[in-house]
This record gives sequence, structure tokens and C-alpha cells, in this order.
Amino acid sequence: MALSEQTSDSFELGPIRPPSEAYSLLIRVTRNCPWNRCKFCHTYKGEKFQLRPVAEIKQDILTAKAIQDKLKEISRESGYGDRVPEVARMILNNPPSQAYHNVALWLYAGGESAFLQDADSLIMKTNELVEVIRFLKQTLPSINRVTSYARSKTAAKKKPEELTELHEAGLSRLHIGMESGYDPLLQYMDKGTTAAEHIEGGKKVVASGISLCEYVVLGLGGREMWRQHALQTAKALNEINPDFIRVRTLTVHDGMPLYDELKSGNFVRSTDEEILAEEKLFIEQLECHSNYVSDHITNLLQEIEGKLPQDKEKMLASIDRFQSLPPQERTNFIVGRRAGLYVNLDDMANSGRHQSVAQIMHRLSQGSNQVDDETIHRLMEGFI
Ligand code: SF4
Repeated sequence: MALSEQTSDSFELGPIRPPSEAYSLLIRVTRNCPWNRCKFCHTYKGEKFQLRPVAEIKQDILTAKAIQDKLKEISRESGYGDRVPEVARMILNNPPSQAYHNVALWLYAGGESAFLQDADSLIMKTNELVEVIRFLKQTLPSINRVTSYARSKTAAKKKPEELTELHEAGLSRLHIGMESGYDPLLQYMDKGTTAAEHIEGGKKVVASGISLCEYVVLGLGGREMWRQHALQTAKALNEINPDFIRVRTLTVHDGMPLYDELKSGNFVRSTDEEILAEEKLFIEQLECHSNYVSDHITNLLQEIEGKLPQDKEKMLASIDRFQSLPPQERTNFIVGRRAGLYVNLDDMANSGRHQSVAQIMHRLSQGSNQVDDETIHRLMEGFI
């Protein structure tokens, strides 16, 4: 099972992928973000956007195939036969490179999904992106699902037939960072996209047959714009009717332009409880038929999930359940969640965990049990 000597093979990987693509093969088709100005984002700051030549991307795909073939060979030679996922799992413990790790993880999960990096693959010429997707599927025929990030503005600029062609070539899903549907907030955050462009781009993607996942940032409006953020974002999503709405909660880190706004007092962020009230209003306004997903560690209540509209009441009931807790218990949950001890409200019933959280609260508040909002934010941002 010793691999390290035989594997210098590597291919280029970008820095991020959506949580739902954790087991996808990662193929980097462009580098960084062509916009790169959003105040709340630090992923590509300081990095220059580049299109990659198709020949270079194809070479990476061939390298991924070579690594796959090597793992299959090791599987055969080690007596595992076709049980490649088992071998892949072992390789994960000590992969010779990040590329090996990615291929092993992908094979371990069945080898069916690929994610095209980085921030806006649709910005490639359509014929080149089609060529890449076709080559990927021909070279690695086990892949039956190809997804990527895109910007609404870029999607809005594509002709409907171009998006249809991409879908026919095998592009199954686009993940779009909508963040908000409220124009003054989009402008303040320098998102470079208007609500109308979000709607136009989103509707075009849906019409093409490509599955659409729209991301929304809870808390993005801060104390000043939270209400319109909730109302206008829901309104835009109702028009788009994406397959998925994924929410994550604002975190602010050094390196984001928003960090300076926060420090100077220009941006005042909402507390966890205020953001939950915002999420309640947001969900109440949603009239689309999307899957609402809360699969991000930053979200206070990850259990708020379901298919709209039928699960709306259940989702709102989770919020009501939290809001009807006594104040000390609400703080206990928030601290436990932000310290990584709780995943959902039911976890509070575990007396050992509840006691540990009570001790953390006691320490953080120096005995008063009143944990201030800044401490909660630091806890959350330190944890993720
Ligand atoms: S478009 Fe996306 S990746 Fe680019 S700066 Fe904005 S949030 Fe970040």
C-alpha cells in the first residue's frame, strides 16, 4: 500500500468548493474570481483572475485519470480486486498529494460527481466549457454529475441556447452566490450584481434545465438592512424558483473589506437571535418550490431544512421552539452551538453537554452568565 515513492502526479486545485461537493472530483477551469470585490468575501483577495487554456485543463483531467488508474492497479495488486473505494479510503489516511487525496475521496464516494472550480466557470467561452465538460465525461465515464459556481451577471449574459448546450454537454448544476436580493445592500457590499440580474440569470439557468442552487447570506444586511434583505431576497427567489436555496450566516474576518467597515462602526452586525428573526421573516415570505438547505456550520439552527412549500410550517416551528426557550437556555444553545458542542436543539437534552456549555458560559462571562455578542461572534469565527 506504500504510494509515496510512485506518485509525483499532481493537478491544480482551487481553494474552495460548496459543502455539497465535498466528494466531487475538483477540476480547476479558471483561477480565482473575475469580480473579486465583494466586501464580505476574502477567498480570492489579492489573487488575479485567469482563464486556463483548455489544453491545460485537459491535461489535469488526464492526470486525474492516471491517478484513478494507479489506485485501481494498487487495488488489484493488493488483492482488493474491484473494491477500489476500500483502497481509496486507506489512501486518504496518507495521500502523497492533495490531488491524490481528491481523487481518492472522489473514488471512495463512488466516482460520480465532478465540480469545476473556481468562482465563475460560466465566464469561459461556451464552446470551450462544453469541450472541457465533454472531455471530462469521456475520459472519466463514471462521472454523471458535473457542477460549478457561477455569477448571476455572467449567467444573465449567456444566450438561452448556450446554457442549453452546456446542459446537454453534461453541466448538471450551477451554484450561484445570490447573497441578497436587496439592491442597496448588494450595492453596499459591492456585489456587482443587481436583483434584476440575479432574477434574469437565475431564470435562464432554470429554463435551460440546469439545476440551480442559490446561496443566501443570513445577517448580511446587519442591523440596518436586515428587514429589506429578508423581504427582497425572498421576492427575488420566488421569481427564480431555484431547485435549492442554501443559507449560510455572515462571518467577518480580517482580510475582508467588511472587517474594516465593522471596526469603523459603519456596519453593525446582527446578533444570532436577530438573525434568526430575519430568517423567520425570510422563510415566511418564500412562495417558491425549492429545497431549503441549511448545511453550513455557521448557521445557528441547521435543522431548518425542508421542501417548500410543504415543510414551511415545520421549518418555522424549529425557530419558534428556539424562541420560546427561557433567555438563559437560548444563550446556552447559542454558546454550545458556537463552541461546537451542539448541532441541533435536541442536543441540549444531553445533560453532560448542557453542563459543559454552562461551564463555558460561566468562564466566558466571568461568572455573570451574560455572554456578550462580541464574545459569541469571536467564538463562532474562531471555531470555523
Ligand atoms: S463574486 Fe463570489 S467569489 Fe467573487 S468576490 Fe464575490 S463572493 Fe467572492
